[in-house]
Amino acid sequence: MKSGAFVEQAWSWLERELDRWTENGQQAQFWWRDDDASAASDALERLIQLSQRRRIPLALAVIPATLESGLVTCLRSCPGISVLQHGFAHKNHAPPGQRKIEIGGARPAAELAQDLQAGRQILEQRFGDRFVAALVPPWNRIDAALAKDLPGLGFSGLSTLRARRSASPAPGLLQVNVHLDPINWRCDSGFIGVYPAIAVLVQHLIARRSGYRDPAEPSGILSHHLVQNEATWRFLDDLLQFLAEHPAAGFVDAHDIWQ
Ligand SMILES: [Zn+2]
Repeated sequence: MKSGAFVEQAWSWLERELDRWTENGQQAQFWWRDDDASAASDALERLIQLSQRRRIPLALAVIPATLESGLVTCLRSCPGISVLQHGFAHKNHAPPGQRKIEIGGARPAAELAQDLQAGRQILEQRFGDRFVAALVPPWNRIDAALAKDLPGLGFSGLSTLRARRSASPAPGLLQVNVHLDPINWRCDSGFIGVYPAIAVLVQHLIARRSGYRDPAEPSGILSHHLVQNEATWRFLDDLLQFLAEHPAAGFVDAHDIWQ
């Protein structure tokens, strides 16, 4: 089969799955998270325009320690964009040879807790109501013991990657993850391809519909405006348009998720 046929098959697969939700009288909820923002840029402008063109709410995970005032100004005039906290400085604290982690690793827990709190205060102060007190740990990785401390540090939300194991890893903490990351990090940060990307989404939808995964966790789409290539941008645009037009798909705002 030619790749064009694969692509067509993938879109119709997504359509058929969403049609099943319609037949069941259900709406499939989605949400959209974009990571690594700290400054205004042409790529950020493009991201915001995409959100506005498709009328889809966007949750921007912002790095507090490197926040520039240009980003604050830029978001002030853009409705429909929420701010989440992306770690503190996006620095790796993993011991040598281990997978990258900022919220955990070799750094003492008390210092990490201080960073997280300081970061939350920065974002609260700069973004006001736009800020949702949900932590997006860099590299989607967090020390499990630290996750339990998050409510005490003022966080009501946590968001990492792949279907959550528990909606509430600690009392007062709601975890809502993203599921589709369309970037191939192991290969020049290119696009993974339409078929693999849609397959991830459809698999999550089937798992929710069948009760194999938590049906209440909205399916999350992850983007990285600073690194994604044209193919990923194009796919993201196509996907958001497709979902915006399908009656069984709805998007939730981060404020509604973590209110
Ligand atoms: Zn990141």
